[in-house]
Amino acid sequence: MHSSAEDNEFRSNYSRVLKRIESAALSVDRDPSEIKLVAVSKMHPAELVRDAISADVVVFGENKVQEAEGKIEILGRDSAEWHLIGHLQSNKAKKAVQLFDVIQTVDSKKLAARLERLCEEENRERLSVFVQVDLADEAAKSGILRKDLPELVEFLKNCTRLSFGGLMIIPPFFENAEDVRPYFRKLRTLRDELQNENAFAGSKGELSMGMSHDFEIAIEEGATIIRVGTALFGERDYSR
Ligand SMILES: *Cc1c(COP(=O)(O)O)cnc(C)c1O
Repeated sequence: MHSSAEDNEFRSNYSRVLKRIESAALSVDRDPSEIKLVAVSKMHPAELVRDAISADVVVFGENKVQEAEGKIEILGRDSAEWHLIGHLQSNKAKKAVQLFDVIQTVDSKKLAARLERLCEEENRERLSVFVQVDLADEAAKSGILRKDLPELVEFLKNCTRLSFGGLMIIPPFFENAEDVRPYFRKLRTLRDELQNENAFAGSKGELSMGMSHDFEIAIEEGATIIRVGTALFGERDYSR
């Protein structure tokens, strides 16, 4: 199943992605090294993640706690930096606190309060969390609505274990990637406003936005973290 051909394919995908990051950054006078690549390994086996680690990928994104747990058991908690990028159900919160370095998908005060309490119980001194924002007012999707954001931010300011590290968005899918630009721009404005009120625990506030088909646009609009799956690992097979 797994072969060195797959390893080589990963390496060439990876170098293509790095070149795309570099040229997008340079096109807007940004330093490419400011952009952190989260390799989204969901639906791909631990062996492929291992190939990526040996090609010097250091950050991985998983959208399901259980799936991540299996891979982290195989590869080791300290083999990489692990980000949760999928919706977190409250019954998985404890596991998530044990497994992840960053939880990018905090979308309610209730979830934040739970994570803060679990950090105390688990003796986790510090957990970096991003707030996932819903700018499309798509009530069915996850992410906090703009109007509810201030209350959550206030709550995070008073947390001692959670450290509010940035904003994340999964915008609606557009055939034409250019249509997503207003969402990225709005998220950046929001980040800048929060930065001005010192909402981010001593940091500048990360902007996690952009996936395989639109990360150049995200970089142009100020993304500091991009989440890339398909362009690195190939298509995901949902039939398995
Ligand atoms: C799957 C996923 C990605 C990666 O998407 P690709 O189009 O494969 O690059 C990024 N972010 C989130 C939240 C995802 O669930």
